[in-house]
Amino acid sequence: MAATDLRQLANDHLWLHFTRMGGHAPPIIVSGDGCYLEDDEGNRYLDALAGLFSVNLGYGFGDEIGQAAHEQMKELPFYTNWTYAHPRAIELAAEVASLAPGDLNRVFFVSGGSEAVEAAWKLARQFFIARDGLPPGKKYKAIARKIAYHGTTMGALSINGIEALRAPFEPLVPEVRHVSNTNRYHRPAGETEEQFTAVLLEELERTILEMDPETVCLVHMEPVQNAGGAFVAPAGYWAGVRALCDKYDILLSADEVITGFGRLGHWFASERYDIRPDIVTTAKGLSSSYAAIGAVVATERVMEPFLADTSMYSHGITFGGHPVMAAIALKNIEIMKREGIMEHVLSNEDAFRSTLAQLLDLPIAGDLRGAGFFYALELVKDKETRETFSDEECEHLLRGFLSHRLFEKGLICRADDRGDPVIQISPPLVATQAQFDEMTGILGDVLAEAWKEMH
Ligand code: PLP
Repeated sequence: MAATDLRQLANDHLWLHFTRMGGHAPPIIVSGDGCYLEDDEGNRYLDALAGLFSVNLGYGFGDEIGQAAHEQMKELPFYTNWTYAHPRAIELAAEVASLAPGDLNRVFFVSGGSEAVEAAWKLARQFFIARDGLPPGKKYKAIARKIAYHGTTMGALSINGIEALRAPFEPLVPEVRHVSNTNRYHRPAGETEEQFTAVLLEELERTILEMDPETVCLVHMEPVQNAGGAFVAPAGYWAGVRALCDKYDILLSADEVITGFGRLGHWFASERYDIRPDIVTTAKGLSSSYAAIGAVVATERVMEPFLADTSMYSHGITFGGHPVMAAIALKNIEIMKREGIMEHVLSNEDAFRSTLAQLLDLPIAGDLRGAGFFYALELVKDKETRETFSDEECEHLLRGFLSHRLFEKGLICRADDRGDPVIQISPPLVATQAQFDEMTGILGDVLAEAWKEMH
């Protein structure tokens, strides 16, 4: 179809997600290869966001993964995981269990990240009913962190720590409280990591006590929080969170929708940070987003009450464990192993970071944080005082200038102000020094222009 026709049809019919629909026609992306995308006018873009932090293998494996999907289509295009099993779901569950740390051995498939988070909270609620014979509505509350994004279905949205996303849909699912995230950049000068950890854990414990520990079933957190800009936890944080969950008999869930499958150089970032969760939610990277599949992975302890004769987890969705999606995820994992993706990320993360760190010479670049292939650059008005931009300034800087200027220059990354303004940089895990240099070059030029624009 001709580009002008597509544009007209998009305007007339396609309702975009999280998009102001009154504006211009959307860019139309028609093809991809490696870390690059091409639009309908033949312009090429370096995708420094890997789709949505999700195309971990990059765009170049369509043939091989498509072949696996084709084979599965011929053999069994669909069957369900309600009561029945089929080979690909079994093989994928076993594969995920073998890659997950500790005894995270039980895998429940869903179609994406929000569904995984939704299923994790439901699982935690039902776990205490099944294990202790508690009545429904006794131990049901959840704790998450401020500004964290966990999805959009009503349960996942309620767990979300971004007020502006929650507000239009209130009243939400009872009851979630949000504690501080691990953003150190605006903490008092001279505070050590250990002191910061103590402050955060004291707040978490106080929150549990205020909510009444007998009523809290879940603590849900990302190993490295994306929204707000790649917040890595300070020393001792995860051991402390684990200890509080044990003390108050609360399940700890690690949201690895982004961090799973290599973004931090491990199959699961819970391993890198020794988080020891009871539950892991995962999606995007499980198939490198070549398929709509996610999973909740649970430990033997969480599964145990559901193994009793008449017991079951009362949850299911038609497409959970879809055989074609499972075949795609299996092929994705096979390719990741063959291509040495974990090793590639671990051996290149320092080079990536130090290349990006050149941007810190710019007056607008305040802080670079993250790990693996997962970074954020915080933009500031004044580097000395770390003063941030006002809401109006952010609107002009991010939406009015940066987003479209970066795109014009051939770089896709996200300018985000769900917390303080940041540029999120999270390329496909096949990126090499050539792409680190290209990203840094374009960002450097555009951020220098942005500084002038704001003064
Ligand atoms: N959890 C985290 C940490 C995410 O980043 C996302 C999506 O970006 C989700 C959950 C929701 O995933 P999905 O968009 O697949 O529903």
